[in-house]
Amino acid sequence: MATAVFWLLFLTFVGAFAAQVARRVQLIAAAPNTFSLENAPFRVRRFLVDVVCQVRTIRERPFAGGMHALVFWGFIAFAGYTTVEFLYGLGIVDLTRTEWFKAYRIALAPFAIAVLVGIVCLLIRRAVVRPIALGTDVSVESIVIGLCISTLMITFLLTFWLSEDTTGARVNWWLHALVILAFLALIPASKHFHLVLSPITVFLKSPELGNLPNLDFEKEQVGLETVKDLGSKIVLDAFTCVECGRCQVNCPAWGAGKTLNPKTIVLQTQEALLAGAREKRLGEVYTEEVLWQCTTCGACENQCPVGIEHLPILIGSRRGLVSNGAAPGYLGSMYNNLERRSNIWGLGYDQRAKFVQSAGLETFDAARHDVLVWLGCAGAFDADFQKSLRALFDILRARGVGFGVLAKERCNGDPAKRTGNEYMFQELANGNIEELKAAGPKRILTSCPHCVKTIGSDYRKFGYEVEVVHSSVFVEELTRGAARSAALSGPRGDGGPERPALHQQTLTFHDPCYLGRYGGTVDEPRALIARFGGDIKEPVRNRDNPYCCGAGGGLLFADKEEEPGSRISDVRFKQLRDTGANTVVTACPFCSIMLKGAQASAQADTQFVDLMTFVRDRL
Ligand code: SF4
Ligand code: SF4
Repeated sequence: MATAVFWLLFLTFVGAFAAQVARRVQLIAAAPNTFSLENAPFRVRRFLVDVVCQVRTIRERPFAGGMHALVFWGFIAFAGYTTVEFLYGLGIVDLTRTEWFKAYRIALAPFAIAVLVGIVCLLIRRAVVRPIALGTDVSVESIVIGLCISTLMITFLLTFWLSEDTTGARVNWWLHALVILAFLALIPASKHFHLVLSPITVFLKSPELGNLPNLDFEKEQVGLETVKDLGSKIVLDAFTCVECGRCQVNCPAWGAGKTLNPKTIVLQTQEALLAGAREKRLGEVYTEEVLWQCTTCGACENQCPVGIEHLPILIGSRRGLVSNGAAPGYLGSMYNNLERRSNIWGLGYDQRAKFVQSAGLETFDAARHDVLVWLGCAGAFDADFQKSLRALFDILRARGVGFGVLAKERCNGDPAKRTGNEYMFQELANGNIEELKAAGPKRILTSCPHCVKTIGSDYRKFGYEVEVVHSSVFVEELTRGAARSAALSGPRGDGGPERPALHQQTLTFHDPCYLGRYGGTVDEPRALIARFGGDIKEPVRNRDNPYCCGAGGGLLFADKEEEPGSRISDVRFKQLRDTGANTVVTACPFCSIMLKGAQASAQADTQFVDLMTFVRDRL
């Protein structure tokens, strides 16, 4: 009788679970396939680190992440126990009286205590502490799930006190089994579905941050226009979100009071999918205003513990808008500049030629030169950044490095790509690749982190592979012999006049998103600064999780007066000033432009120095 009742309950709850899962699987299967298993070894490594060891979960929020990890590991440990108890309850086989199961049950006791401690802490955090990332309302669903997990652990621990075959033991067994069944039926429609999906989502997440496959114009691909265009990985992501808000609190746009919130983007995707709104335009799902507020800094997807990728949604939707002529006006002028003059400023190429001549630059010759220096739009036309490049050239010449530049160079296409103008990006990229292939460099050196990412990573999608290195990495390697003590003071080894002492300077360093987060280059700039007498005061957001300067994703060109909220650059500038250092070292031309603008607005006396000038002046 009891077995029959258990079968009935089992089929009812498992049926409810399966029906909800089937609905979501159907939506994933109906989406254009964007799943990829490329670079499997990397994916396996990341799975072990982020799923098995829960590193990403713990890293940003050590306490809450640690408690979550206890619950996760407990769930894994309990999988065998639940299976055996259910096999018994369904009358299939009774393994509960075997010696190995008894030993396993004893081994589970510490896990049960750990899960109980973890879930109680998480419940207190949700119901009492209520950090802003979790939303302003207390989630009833989370409280119910938390109570279910607590009940499971308590009923398990009670099995050590209750004598077998007593009424108490039987009631306890049924309570434990019923809570598991109820939990099963509840999770697909809740954020706890991540328990099932997140291992898959993490494994399927692209190894490349901000991965944007090229559009194939021959197949008439134009980007994401409506809900039915969202690819299978985006749909999977939408059902995996655990609503932890890490993307939200790390987003510079949200931090500056704008309407963009990456967590909301994912939840709006989920809502539209479940509502069956396949024909709804994405500009209406998210609002166009929000889509243009993203700087493409990558903080959201880099922080997400469950493998969700936000940039394919944001930039994919921008592509759809651009292909329908719905880009904002300020981008129209920038696109004109790119189309007519192949650079973002719309300046004549004679100005680049003048700089090349005045800086004494040779045209790159693979037989004579060690590296090709890529100037970029900023290097070719921005007088301020040209000072930084001259400092780099001085260092290269002083160290005997042979270098040259291309006779002709277009914008690498980054502003077109990140704003969704894929056609223009491909035109620029193909033109540059042709020139680069003809020149044949083995190594490209640039001071612009956006050029590192675009040429080094995005151009690979056209089959062009070359090593692209940022000047901070190259110069750090080049000056490794310049021991700090020798640079600071003391007599010259050749008996010449004594070196002037380099005074120790307190300063702060702003990591560019495309260098620190995208490129993982965080140690080299710091090593250089320390080597040449700098004492770094770190700002609140640094290294591989910097706070964006606000220039990326085409926002360098946005009308600052019309931006909602504060300016991202003002927020970052304040963070840098709050370090107490009066000098900011920069390593990207666009960060420099944005932060100097913020300094002017704040009428602050903060000094700026770019990294190459800092090194050259002390070398
Ligand atoms: S990429 Fe940066 S700006 Fe864009 S949504 Fe993510 S965190 Fe916000
Ligand atoms: S997208 Fe990721 S980081 Fe953002 S709320 Fe969802 S799970 Fe958390």
